[in-house]
Amino acid sequence: MPQSKPILKVAVPTPLRRSFDYLVGQHATPPIGSRVRVSFGRQQLVGIVVAHTEISSTPQNKLKAILEVIDSEPLLPNHLFKLLLWAADYYMHPIGDVFTTCLPSLLNKGEPAQLEPEYCWKLTADGQSAFPDLNKNAVKQHKILLWAIDHQGTIQASDLEQLELTPSQLKPLVEKGWLQKEVIKPTPTSHGQTSNSLDLNPEQRHAVESMQKSIGQFQGFLLDGVTGSGKTEVYLQLIEKVLTNQQQVLVLVPEIGLTPQTVQRFKRRFDCDIAMLHSGLTDRQRLNIWLKAKQGLTSIVIGTRSSLFTPFANLGLIVVDEEHDVSYKQQEGFRYSARDLAILRARDEQTPVVLGSATPSMESMYNVNQGKLVHLTLRKRAANAKPPHIKVLDIRQRHLNNGLSQPLLDNMQRHLDNGNQCLVFLNRRGFAPSLMCHGCGWIADCQRCDKHMTLHLQQKRLHCHHCDKQVFMPKQCPECGAEDLFPVGLGTERLEQALINAFPNKKVVRIDRDSTRRKQAMQDYVTAIKNNEVDILVGTQMLAKGHHFPNLTMVAVVDIDGCLFSADFRATERTAQLLTQVAGRAGRADQPGEVVIQTHHPEHPLLLNLFTQDYQSLSQQILAEREAGMLPPYASMALFRAEATTLQYPMQFLKDVSQSLHQITGLDCFGPFPAPMAKRAGKMRAQLLCQAQQRGLIQRALKPVISNIEQLPSARKVRWSIDIDPQDPF
Ligand code: ADP
Ligand code: ZN
Ligand code: ZN
Repeated sequence: MPQSKPILKVAVPTPLRRSFDYLVGQHATPPIGSRVRVSFGRQQLVGIVVAHTEISSTPQNKLKAILEVIDSEPLLPNHLFKLLLWAADYYMHPIGDVFTTCLPSLLNKGEPAQLEPEYCWKLTADGQSAFPDLNKNAVKQHKILLWAIDHQGTIQASDLEQLELTPSQLKPLVEKGWLQKEVIKPTPTSHGQTSNSLDLNPEQRHAVESMQKSIGQFQGFLLDGVTGSGKTEVYLQLIEKVLTNQQQVLVLVPEIGLTPQTVQRFKRRFDCDIAMLHSGLTDRQRLNIWLKAKQGLTSIVIGTRSSLFTPFANLGLIVVDEEHDVSYKQQEGFRYSARDLAILRARDEQTPVVLGSATPSMESMYNVNQGKLVHLTLRKRAANAKPPHIKVLDIRQRHLNNGLSQPLLDNMQRHLDNGNQCLVFLNRRGFAPSLMCHGCGWIADCQRCDKHMTLHLQQKRLHCHHCDKQVFMPKQCPECGAEDLFPVGLGTERLEQALINAFPNKKVVRIDRDSTRRKQAMQDYVTAIKNNEVDILVGTQMLAKGHHFPNLTMVAVVDIDGCLFSADFRATERTAQLLTQVAGRAGRADQPGEVVIQTHHPEHPLLLNLFTQDYQSLSQQILAEREAGMLPPYASMALFRAEATTLQYPMQFLKDVSQSLHQITGLDCFGPFPAPMAKRAGKMRAQLLCQAQQRGLIQRALKPVISNIEQLPSARKVRWSIDIDPQDPF
């Protein structure tokens, strides 16, 4: 019988970099981009049809038919589907896993791509009259009805979290006839109605006007604006134009801690459906946002890295805020760069893309120099704020009390006396980075990593920040039995104690990953700081990003020396960014700010340069160094990583990889070497670095051999990965 149906190439979630061929069988032919259920080995998996073909390298009689067609239409818009195929190819990552990473998990499980109705609860007349006579003990019912009365008689599903209730807890009230459950009909939301936009200053106006011209076509912009220069206001006014054009907007932000404030600002400005993708959503909520964006029912989507893969009916703008942030690069599995893919996506969908930062990445500065991005600068702080005054404090031979020098404390005192706030920055959480025995010198190391364990005194625990192992803090030395253990070094917890002692009448709060674990914690701290209920903030880089605290006038950088000497060629860039960002927290309203940096290396070129020049000139200098050293962005890199229980296996595997690459001119392979942290979580790790001067050579060189590498016998003894454009050498 002639075969009129095509053979299907299906991407299945496996670690192999290929698709698998299936017959259509008795089903209607599923279109390219739709999901099908297939049997794979002994499992049944959900896969995506990536192509139709006439011929297969597998004999026809060995091919299996698919089990089920899940979607009768392509799941993703064509542009996005192509982008994922492109990304799988570029990052040399298994296509099945690319889809798994990028799709909402319910779709990966084969759930229908259908919007579930969303509900709200309306207060009835009976409910209204029941309220005054409620039994005092009916605390929950009281709370629910009060909320409804305070909110125009409606409880939204999204209110339940704040009420600390589940939908089932509303049921009794529905049964009593006090509330009525209603389906909210999704409707395209009104676009672009705005209120209270600010009058732009000339730099901001120039930026908005330049970008506005590109609505409806592709153009990349770097919005390079010092901290507090009003970048967000520029985004908002540009977004307003895009919404008026009946188009949708995607805003990427680096960290979810920042998102509540950003979202509030957006919600106050725009009367349209704004969705926020964050880790606290249920799978169903996530899928609903995905589907609403795809159907054009949501106007603005704000989220972190993976939000880049949200489908849109009519995308009109992509904003990548804090584009230099390392969190845009995924560091495991499908190691994509959301910033780089955002530019590609914008090109495919013919929209402008705005990369915004006070400290642009070297890649983006390079792209400006190459003419690929239009450079828009905001050099002045918005409103009246002045740039902060920066002091480098030489602490050589000075007495330090828990890392704090007297001049630093005096400086803080002056600001506190004026009723202002100080931020004390240290990028190390915990009480101390290690615990030592005074009797014999024993030090608490992680048994699974090449690292010390961090002491968390409050929890009385030792915690390895690399593999997450935690043990109780020992009372005596496990080596010599002495009860003479003492903390070595400084973490935020210890610094907090020291500041409480130094300023007993001042309110100190610590903000780091430990103190903000509770869901609302970050939001609560931010509110307290804004309400001036806090005098001193101690914290890690969580505090360095994006916050706007009007009464904060001084930033103290306690220990930067560790960042000044690092083997990573990106260390200078990262330190310059971090210092500029932290410094940017000072004096953001009408009071001038001051930044004091303690160091044993006041002559270090980075410190000298950063504060005699601005970040922009410094970045040109860093670029010149990169060019001379033939390093990215003037070269391309790929990093092979491999690990096993003994080092010999990853080394052997990477040697084999290197062998298969060694005849390619223009490609340099370094290694294999043990990784900078050779032992981590009980695994021994090694690396092979490939570097090429010529753009595209990495791709041309590695792609033809990648499936051979997959087949290497030594590959079976290790877990390995390839990282294209690696950001992190560890
Ligand atoms: P950035 O995103 O660059 O850090 P923001 O947009 O958050 O800066 O602006 C910093 C502060 O300046 C905010 O309080 C904002 O309301 C204010 N601001 C921004 N643009 C203007 C303007 N044109 N006029 C007055 N105030 C402004
Ligand atoms: Zn000891
Ligand atoms: Zn560890």
